[in-house]
Amino acid sequence: MVLGILKEQNFKRVAITPTATKKLGAMGIDAVAESGAGENAGIKDQNYQDNGIKIGTRQQVLAESDIIISIAPVSDGEMKMMKNGAIYISMFAPYQNQDIVSHLSNFGINVVSMDMIPRSTLAQSMDILSSMASLSGYKAVLKAADHFNNMFPMMMTAAGTIPPTKLMVLGAGVAGLQAIATAKRLGAVVEAFDTRSAAKEEVMSLGATFVEVEGATDDRGAGGYAVQQSDEFLARQRALVQEKALKSNIIIATAQVRGRKAPLLITEDTINHMKPGSVIVDLAASTGGNCAYTENNKTITKNGVVIIGNSDLADELSGVASNLFSNNILNFLQIVVKDGLATLNLENEIIQSALISKAH
Ligand code: NAD
Repeated sequence: MVLGILKEQNFKRVAITPTATKKLGAMGIDAVAESGAGENAGIKDQNYQDNGIKIGTRQQVLAESDIIISIAPVSDGEMKMMKNGAIYISMFAPYQNQDIVSHLSNFGINVVSMDMIPRSTLAQSMDILSSMASLSGYKAVLKAADHFNNMFPMMMTAAGTIPPTKLMVLGAGVAGLQAIATAKRLGAVVEAFDTRSAAKEEVMSLGATFVEVEGATDDRGAGGYAVQQSDEFLARQRALVQEKALKSNIIIATAQVRGRKAPLLITEDTINHMKPGSVIVDLAASTGGNCAYTENNKTITKNGVVIIGNSDLADELSGVASNLFSNNILNFLQIVVKDGLATLNLENEIIQSALISKAH
């Protein structure tokens, strides 16, 4: 059984790193990587070869592999080049693009979308969304610090006392909690909003203040995800966010509702009244952003406030992000491959959720 590792066209990361070798060997899998696959993550072809992973052309990887892995989905033309019945593992975000599932049935391959793995304790070791969100939350704070003309910790100097930075986090999910932890380590005073009641305790355990907006719609039964809030709730939330934003120096915005546009929490009016020199990092940019002015994959300045729209900051940590991605994939493969044979057992809840198209 051959596993193919593709070079990403738009990311620095690579889906499988040479550290995978031992586990692949134990499953009876041989691997081949596209030449240059790891170069933007600090991994040379030689490094793969030293670990028993062959190097091939993109064409070879696509046509000769039984299991193919990439972070971003490849083109239709490249899916056509895959072996009939091959297993293709990538991230298709079908909850954002409902037509994709029927489209994928045209290629005679089995398609696994890792973003459909349940957010359960059992599947935690395969949860790529969490691995990447955690890195993004960390990097968001470092990015904000880099654009900020002040420092985070309180400091007493002979020239005067420097007050601590006030940082606000919108959405205390995986990315938000990591942002809180990072900002606290740097000495900021942190407060956070979330609509899920479970988030309160997590925020407080990290030493931040939880800001509660009364009357959030209950999220029980949504698989751990947040649910859409009423217009009336969001209007009240925006007013409270504005009140807090005017006193903040930095906002890390991560609030999302799966399958929907991100909630608008920072209005134009809020930005127009914020302190010049403040920084907003909007990790919800790819689903519309939490801030009215956010432009996806752009850094702009409005009223002296720097607004960074980027949902994929994990890619800027390509070394560690590739290793975590690789580990998540290997953990998934362990429930699929045994003694060099792959079985997509639909009675397994994780496989059933992640297998979005089956070869006929
Ligand atoms: P996400 O990226 O979908 O959203 C980020 C955060 O925004 C969430 O915490 C959400 O509640 C919050 N949010 C939505 N609307 C908001 C609003 N109007 N105001 C403020 N906040 C708002 O979330 P995620 O980080 O992918 O996590 C989703 C859920 O899955 C969380 O409950 C998380 O704890 C859970 N989870 C569980 C596991 C596990 O058990 N294995 C692993 C990872 C995540």
